[in-house]
Amino acid sequence: MNASDDEEVERVTVGPRDSSRTPRYAGFATFALLPRIEEVARADVAVVGIPFDTGVSYRPGARFGPAHIRESSRLLRPYNPVQDTSPFARMQVADAGDIAVNPFSIDDAVREIEERADELTAGGARLLTLGGDHTIALPLLRSTAKRHGPVAVVHFDAHLDTWDTYFDAPITHGTPFRRASEEGLLDRTGCLHIGIRGPLYDRDDLADDDRLGFAVIGSHEVERAGMAVALQRMHDRLGDRPVYVSVDIDVLDPAHAPGTGTPEAGGLTSRELLEFLRGLRQHRSVGADVVEVAPAYDHAQLTGIAASHVAYELLTSMVPAS
Ligand code: MN
Ligand code: MN
Repeated sequence: MNASDDEEVERVTVGPRDSSRTPRYAGFATFALLPRIEEVARADVAVVGIPFDTGVSYRPGARFGPAHIRESSRLLRPYNPVQDTSPFARMQVADAGDIAVNPFSIDDAVREIEERADELTAGGARLLTLGGDHTIALPLLRSTAKRHGPVAVVHFDAHLDTWDTYFDAPITHGTPFRRASEEGLLDRTGCLHIGIRGPLYDRDDLADDDRLGFAVIGSHEVERAGMAVALQRMHDRLGDRPVYVSVDIDVLDPAHAPGTGTPEAGGLTSRELLEFLRGLRQHRSVGADVVEVAPAYDHAQLTGIAASHVAYELLTSMVPAS
């Protein structure tokens, strides 16, 4: 049984491990030291890792992202003061482990991810996925659209990820949102990229992107217009549509998140990104991911900590409104 957004329920959830008894740095790292999914009767939100990076075009290594984000999430505490809520008390959140997929076949991996996502959400749970490279958004959107119909994607990324093919491959980390749009998984009146920057191949990239249903708030526009204007544009674009949130950690400036595969200068600060994610609380979030964390290029857990806080705000945005 799972709570719907308008259900007012006082019920007992199994929260994170008690850090007054076991120090946060001890023991196995589930996300935020939450219980494993086997330890709870039901889950409203399942946090699941997908250690897959066969779709990358530049630096590999995001297959190690889920473990790094979990390890970097040990210090997350249960109360979110900015949003004035305790997400793990308001919802049962559990760590569902990893979806272990074929590293040698993108087609097989994509099929396996969709099947496992269908299983995890069969009882009504929503997914917060830790990638993995951005390829995984396609099977996650296929699964999401089966339950919710076409969704508005709000996509935080330096890159459009609506390219067509690369070395003739149709499914890579640069193509998930083109394929999803072509397949009818997206509400083309409500999708939005935030944080786009860096050189493109051609001006036509932007025309294609517009045709596929995306509006753009560029990284430079966040600076020029300011956060309040940018947030209002996000609210206006998403409206009351079901929203799927996809966060490529490279939306952050390399100063804030060096541990990623295709870094670009001039990105958002982690403070700006977290503020956008807090703005999602008033929308209807049906699923989310944070992807492209590649720990081999990280320093001092900068990227892992940023990603763990992104995941925490994404979870908080899923807390029912009342
Ligand atoms: Mn990117
Ligand atoms: Mn991406």
